[in-house]
Amino acid sequence: MIPKLTPELALDASIIAFNKALVAAGFSGDIETSYGSRLAVATDNSVYQALPQAVLLPKSTDDVVILTSLAQTSSFSHIKFSPRGGGTGTNGQALTEHVVVDLSRHMRGILEINVEQRWVRVQAGVIKDQLNAFLKPYGFFFAPDLSTSNRATIGGMINTDASGQGSLVYGKTSDHVLALKTVLIDGNILKTHKMATFEAEHRAEMPSSIGRIYRQVLDSCRTFRPQIIEKFPRLNRFLTGYDLEHVFNDDLTEFDLSRIITGSEGSLGFVTEAKLNITPIAKYKCLLNVKYDSFESALRNAPFLVAAEATSVETVDSKVLDLARNDIIWHQVKELITDVPGTEMQGLNMVEYNSEEQSEMARKIAALTAKLDAAIADKTDGIIGYQLTYDGAAISNIYAMRKKAVGLLGNTQGAQKPIAFAEDTAVPPENLADFIMEFRALLDSHGLHYGMFGHVDAGVLHVRPALDLCDPEQEKLLRTISDQVVALTGKYGGLMWGEHGKGYRSEYGPAFFGDELFNELRKIKAAFDPRNRVNPGKICTPYSSADQLVSVDDQKRAWFDRQIPVAVKKSFDSSLNCNGNGQCFNYEENSPMCPSSKVTRDRRHSPKGRAGLMREWLRLTELQGIDVLAEEQRILVNKPGFSSLWQKIRNSLAKWQGAEDFSHEVMEAMEGCLACKACASQCPVKVDVPSFRSRFLQLYHSRYLRPAKDYIVGNIERTAPMLAKAPRLINFVLKRKVTAAVLKKTVGYVDTPLLSVPTLAQLTAKQYQFDLAMLQQLSPAKQARTVLLVQDPFTSFYEAELVADALQLLAKIGFRPVLLPFVPNGKPQHVKGFLRQFAETAATAARFLNQLQQLNMPMLGLDASLVLAYRDEYNKTLGAKRGDFQVHLLHEWLVQQPIPRAVNTADYALLAHCTEKTALPSTEKAWQQIFINAGMTLQTVPVGCCGMAGTYGHEAQNLDNSKALFNMSWRSPVERFGVSNILVTGFSCRSQVKRLTGDKPKHPLQALLHSL
Ligand SMILES: Cc1cc2nc3c(=O)[nH]c(=O)nc-3n(C[C@H](O)[C@H](O)[C@H](O)COP(=O)(O)OP(=O)(O)OC[C@H]3O[C@@H](n4cnc5c(N)ncnc54)[C@H](O)[C@@H]3O)c2cc1C
Ligand code: SF4
Ligand code: SF4
Repeated sequence: MIPKLTPELALDASIIAFNKALVAAGFSGDIETSYGSRLAVATDNSVYQALPQAVLLPKSTDDVVILTSLAQTSSFSHIKFSPRGGGTGTNGQALTEHVVVDLSRHMRGILEINVEQRWVRVQAGVIKDQLNAFLKPYGFFFAPDLSTSNRATIGGMINTDASGQGSLVYGKTSDHVLALKTVLIDGNILKTHKMATFEAEHRAEMPSSIGRIYRQVLDSCRTFRPQIIEKFPRLNRFLTGYDLEHVFNDDLTEFDLSRIITGSEGSLGFVTEAKLNITPIAKYKCLLNVKYDSFESALRNAPFLVAAEATSVETVDSKVLDLARNDIIWHQVKELITDVPGTEMQGLNMVEYNSEEQSEMARKIAALTAKLDAAIADKTDGIIGYQLTYDGAAISNIYAMRKKAVGLLGNTQGAQKPIAFAEDTAVPPENLADFIMEFRALLDSHGLHYGMFGHVDAGVLHVRPALDLCDPEQEKLLRTISDQVVALTGKYGGLMWGEHGKGYRSEYGPAFFGDELFNELRKIKAAFDPRNRVNPGKICTPYSSADQLVSVDDQKRAWFDRQIPVAVKKSFDSSLNCNGNGQCFNYEENSPMCPSSKVTRDRRHSPKGRAGLMREWLRLTELQGIDVLAEEQRILVNKPGFSSLWQKIRNSLAKWQGAEDFSHEVMEAMEGCLACKACASQCPVKVDVPSFRSRFLQLYHSRYLRPAKDYIVGNIERTAPMLAKAPRLINFVLKRKVTAAVLKKTVGYVDTPLLSVPTLAQLTAKQYQFDLAMLQQLSPAKQARTVLLVQDPFTSFYEAELVADALQLLAKIGFRPVLLPFVPNGKPQHVKGFLRQFAETAATAARFLNQLQQLNMPMLGLDASLVLAYRDEYNKTLGAKRGDFQVHLLHEWLVQQPIPRAVNTADYALLAHCTEKTALPSTEKAWQQIFINAGMTLQTVPVGCCGMAGTYGHEAQNLDNSKALFNMSWRSPVERFGVSNILVTGFSCRSQVKRLTGDKPKHPLQALLHSL
């Protein structure tokens, strides 16, 4: 039995008192102190881990003022805070052992837009892509770009001075900040914007902390101007720290204090609002993908492309290309980067042109392509080909691939994982190729693997060498290489942190700024935060403070991971591999990635949160001396006896009485998961929550009793066939209000679906019935025209008319369909963690299906979750015993068949099931093709999760989230097209539409059948 886990849960008493006082003072945000909530923000995309004492999630600037003002009182004046946004830092910028102030959950308001004056005012937690989606209808965008644009916040971008693709033309975040509202640690609000220097001098006379800040910054930046100009690199990137150079304009007549805050990594105050410059979206866009025989050729050719007046030039090496080829993302880009016959593509430059004038862009492209053609013909510069696209969606897809590259680099086998520590060097672009060659030699000398890509136009290189930090020797290597990279970037006139900020690399600050300027930084820090209470240890400590900076040697995630046995790590690699890049925080409502994260905005309820909780659970269990793998085996082999039941009752009673156990926190996060499996394909390192979730559920319930609903769901494949023998009676009972109330109260189930009337047996003609002996005797010609329809419990017992329509459709297109007898699949058992029972069910089903495989007839299924379980969960559970039977989804097979021309057509819109389209990215295209084959049209509509996901939406505790998810991305297209015009592939999704609109949409096969 798993042990009770009680990690060091006790919080510092003053933090508890502070939190209480916060509520009394009117703080309206969330206050979280659970171990799970703190763990969820203990990591970012870096190698470090720091557990905070509490997480405060303010709702407004007022909340931040309340918390900072309260922190001034003598009882709380020792408490320190770190602001946090999306938590996508690569160097631990937002990590702290003190209190996290997370502005990303609630402060997502876009407050004001002024199109004439070209600005927008936003709260700090607004996500960059969210802002651009808002600006698009106005014809504008927020120009600084970054790979994490679907989850990084404006507050985080400002504080790391984020930039990325197109930075030569569009600049960095600091170039677009017009004004900031920053709450200082003493509770004062500092409003900054560009002003005449005399006005700044006037403000410097104020007696408050604001006057002190103006005085210090004016003094430091003016007195040391010559040293600043000499020291700051002439690069598209700046030193990050405090931008002493750009506070003033060239003739010192203008002063902008915002420039000190941009890039300050949360070390000066809490930015709560920003007024940002917005840029018109260029009317014309074009992307050339230039292909090379080597990465070096791509790098050396970049200056030529920049000289060809490109808006941006991005590069990726062959390793990144290969990783992309094996990811779901390749599906969207493969036609834009085709192989050149007879050559090997080892490098790619993505060259973008933007323009307001079509003729101007055409001229530039014609000039460049003429030169590229000549180079290809002459076989010079390693150029082997190029492709050009003007299609906006295609261009976005290529950049999505490029943006995913960092994450993809994390997706490697073995213990050595690509890690961020020297991943964003910047050197003058003309030095880039030589710098990279030397950088490669350095990494090769340590025998390391790595992939490279970057913004070659700005001289920025992204590289993540693969190290196993659980090996103490490799951890030392991280320090060695960091020091060597600092020296190497210095040699080429560049920076170690060209893009992602300093964080735990802050210790190298003095080496880059020099002691004299670094002291000025410390004086500025002292003016803002004299007692080192805001993100302490980052960038610098206040002048005359004895506090230490954070260091690259500080505690890493690997220190914790080392405590988990290697065999356990391997077995649970899906959770251990999460590198915290935050792709699963994707805000985009129409993307399938993590519905529970979207709807709760709670980091624990994301794949990252769940993976982190699982990792810690494994560590704590190991510390209790329990072998998790042996425990799992024991549960799989032995049926629980009476004594274990008695122990479970006792443990559950203790739980209901409030006894603490960290497993309950993990359980809560797992219960919020919809098991939609989007993470398994969308996460760049394929963190597959449902796979470790079901294992955890099984282990958890070896100690605690299961709720009744688990047994209902887990046994649905056994009970549904029995209930379907008297469907009218069962439905009559289910329809009673009293039954609904009882089910809700006792089982926690709502809107229980009704059984099909007439039943499948009543709907199916005799000729479709299964007769093995008859099938075995069919002639080869007849065998070739026979298809077997595999039943699933949902369509067969709750949507029998769909199964009947599928049989009819197959017959109509010239095949002889046979309805196989219902054999449980086991997926519902797997979802609820009944893994022993699942293994038995899967073995029985596999035996049956393997026998049928001998007939050599296609086997088709209608429900994606269950059909995909034959491929995934069956493989994992049965291994070689699974056999080689194949069950296809209807569309996978139908797309290869000739279809008669439709006689009636209508305009349909396809809303595909998220599990299906993430696991099988060609789903939507396949249905479109099937419709084209029939002479029909079908448009696809991007939607996220419908909120039903099997039985999730029927559980009373999930009802609000289920409805919210439907409203997020489904309601609008359902209302726009009308239920009769949408086609929906998922059983859950059709049920959800019916439940929340009153009308049931058709499956695409039904539209096809009625059109032929
Ligand atoms: C895969 C990957 C790719 C990346 N690519 C890029 C890239 O192309 N370009 C780029 O510039 N960066 C990139 N980054 C780094 C990172 O995404 C950026 O630094 C981003 O700006 C951080 O935003 P965030 O909201 O996640 O901030 P966080 O990581 O939460 O915080 C970053 C810093 O800002 C501070 N902060 C956050 N919000 C506030 C606030 N409201 N007030 C005061 N301080 C605050 C924090 O204290 C911390 O010091 C990448 C990261 C990853 C994981
Ligand atoms: S779960 Fe995947 S996408 Fe999310 S942070 Fe971890 S590695 Fe990134
Ligand atoms: S299965 Fe779905 S809900 Fe669960 S963690 Fe993965 S993406 Fe999120």
